Amino acid sequence: MDILAYTVEQATIPVSIKPARVMELTRRAASEWNQCMKRLVYLMERRLNEADIFIGFGAVDRSEQPTRIAQCTRYKRGGQVYWRIVLASDVSWDAAPWWQFWARGEHSLLAALTHEFGHVFLDDNDHWHSPVVGDVMQPDLLNHLIAEDEAKRYRARFKAITNPES
Ligand SMILES: [Zn+2]
Repeated sequence: MDILAYTVEQATIPVSIKPARVMELTRRAASEWNQCMKRLVYLMERRLNEADIFIGFGAVDRSEQPTRIAQCTRYKRGGQVYWRIVLASDVSWDAAPWWQFWARGEHSLLAALTHEFGHVFLDDNDHWHSPVVGDVMQPDLLNHLIAEDEAKRYRARFKAITNPES
């Protein structure tokens, strides 16, 4: 089983959002994937200098997708692979516990975090998205819960990416 460490760059969190709330939602998104990817891969919270995945707020690339609110990019440094998840700092994030979906023109931080974590597991060389409406990996960021059949498809895709010969 692979263990991937993530860290939230707390200094980047906008003043309008409580850092503790961001941490809690990130843990929830990670635990959703840990259930989905059971015995395959595990996401674990770690300190900055031990992380494989860096999560923070900042500017996102809207050159191809003008409505983008978050992104996940993979990069190599010193022969090692890392991921950077950026949540756009210029959108109105709704981190309140009862808003799980897009609501009142605001964006669900939990759904965005869940979606972007998926790119860590499910991207090959492409930026992969599910075509199934309601999937967390469908790009409209509608959902933060991974259904059972959805989990099966993600596990199959993850295995195909990590063991292409089998
Ligand atoms: Zn995406």
